Amino acid sequence: MSATIIDGKRISEEIKSEVKRETELLKKEQGITPGLAFVLVGDNPASQVYVRSKGRACTEIGFHSVTETLPADCTQERLLGLVRKFNEDPAIHGLLVQLPLPSHLNEQRVIEAIDYRKDVDGFHPVNVGRLVLGLPCLRPCTPAGVQELLMRSGNDPAGKHVVVVGRSNIVGKPVMNILLQKQRGANAVVTIAHTGAADLTRYIREADILVAAIGRPEAITGAMLKPGCVVIDVGINRIPDASTKSGTRLVGDVHFASASEVASAITPVPGGVGLMTIAMLMKNTLLASRGNIYG
Ligand code: NAP
Repeated sequence: MSATIIDGKRISEEIKSEVKRETELLKKEQGITPGLAFVLVGDNPASQVYVRSKGRACTEIGFHSVTETLPADCTQERLLGLVRKFNEDPAIHGLLVQLPLPSHLNEQRVIEAIDYRKDVDGFHPVNVGRLVLGLPCLRPCTPAGVQELLMRSGNDPAGKHVVVVGRSNIVGKPVMNILLQKQRGANAVVTIAHTGAADLTRYIREADILVAAIGRPEAITGAMLKPGCVVIDVGINRIPDASTKSGTRLVGDVHFASASEVASAITPVPGGVGLMTIAMLMKNTLLASRGNIYG
């Protein structure tokens, strides 16, 4: 079998176009311009790149966006003060503090200081709790992107056995909580596996849909998969490659060449899940700006 490619570029562009159209309507009909604030602490180059590309997406879509940068040695109080400022700013509907923070700062306290109605990352305990309960909320972007990839590629998870490998709070657990709800685009039977599994292959082989989120380059191979399964590879790992100009290349958690011989559909890395995160951040900001998620 040679798998169909699930094209994250096409699907993320489609979502961004929809958000752009809806933003134009919101501006015209209600005079609301969605506003997204980014807080960047320190000079982590990867974080700088992420915030710049998120800011570019805001400009393309027509959002108002601001970025505040704090020095790496800033105090917890100063950071919390900035969060409070954006919480109170009526022009800002979404607030994203780029993680990870320098180690002297308490990430959880910062997440909990964000007004949950502006928590476009979907990490605030109110949003996490509402997601588990199946209530409307701002959902984490990458997991919500996994659901969109499935639905928009014709792979509705309803009634399927989804095996999620990885139980992090930002990917594995929210993917599980999204896909098991008795709702459209979900209603799957979900198994979650992790390092506690004595025999990981035993679970992976049972998957109609496999979501890999472990951060281990190419650890899941075609030989471990059930023929005809759908593979969503969330992993983004940089490995050495002397044949490239940079000396490295990106790979997923799944060994693409062998998996695509066994699966019926698969996301590439890059070009799959990675592109969905920003698209879903834009969607969350639009939802937050309408102000009616929580009734
Ligand atoms: P994480 O916080 O390190 O969590 C990894 C999870 O995988 C943990 O639950 C860990 O189990 C489990 N795990 C690790 N090795 C395993 C193994 N050999 N067998 C079974 N389970 C294993 O990682 P994360 O933040 O969820 O990210 C996962 C991957 O997704 C990374 O490659 C990351 O770069 C990528 N990612 C991509 C996006 C995006 O596309 N935009 C966003 C976020 C993350 P334990 O809990 O038992 O330790």
